[in-house]
Amino acid sequence: MRFTVLGSGSTGNAVLICAGQTRVLVDAGLSAKEIVRRLALVGCDAAELSGVIITHEHSDHAGGLRVLLKSLSCPVYISGATREAYIGERAGVGNDEPRKRADVLHDRTVEISSSQDFRVGEIDFHPFTIPHDAVDNFGFTATHAGVKLATLMDFGCITTLINERLRGCAAIVIESNHSRDMLKACSVYPWELKQRILSRTGHLSNEDVAAWLREGYDGGAQHIVLAHLSQRANNPYVAKLSAEVALQERGELFQTTTQIMLSHHKEPMPWIEL
Ligand SMILES: [Zn+2]
Ligand SMILES: [Zn+2]
Repeated sequence: MRFTVLGSGSTGNAVLICAGQTRVLVDAGLSAKEIVRRLALVGCDAAELSGVIITHEHSDHAGGLRVLLKSLSCPVYISGATREAYIGERAGVGNDEPRKRADVLHDRTVEISSSQDFRVGEIDFHPFTIPHDAVDNFGFTATHAGVKLATLMDFGCITTLINERLRGCAAIVIESNHSRDMLKACSVYPWELKQRILSRTGHLSNEDVAAWLREGYDGGAQHIVLAHLSQRANNPYVAKLSAEVALQERGELFQTTTQIMLSHHKEPMPWIEL
């Protein structure tokens, strides 16, 4: 199995996971044009995708989906509640967009549940609910030939369930959205937005990731990729350093060779082979 984060941040998210002949796009939050361009950059033709999984309806995860579907022939794996929210008023889009979305998705979806395993080609997906202010969002682990990776973005805190699901992963893509101090000091965000981001159903901070790396993480992954970094309330070097220091602070018996890597909002990261 191999994967790359095509782009990640508040402006849009997309991850590509491949195994054998199977190529799965996770989220379509960049523009369709940009997703197709970045797929090509990593050597993947959009027409060859086996499926698109949508984790939740927020525009930075699903905003490019409608237009992207014109270039694809594969189905969209989406939960019933997320589909309704995506095509409905809740998406906060005006004019014809809800109708266009409904038309495009017609006959193109495979309904999944945020708590039930499903398979796309040669990859098994094991979704689980994570705390965020969307209708039905999930993180997941994906397995192929005994290797497991996890992708989870957009969640406000690490629950017992999440901690358990992250055990035994060879790679983990995890949100490291903001530095709490940088967010609090950020002058462009209104107070309500800061409260939303900081809440237990908001976004995970560098500090949350560090605490998990010290106390919850099993130490087994070769790679941990930090994702969904805020461009205003985080700094890639601060996020990476915070995670690396946390790994070093683990007890002597729990030292690990895990590499911390960054994903970027403007370009795909290099492929990670598992
Ligand atoms: Zn997001
Ligand atoms: Zn979200």
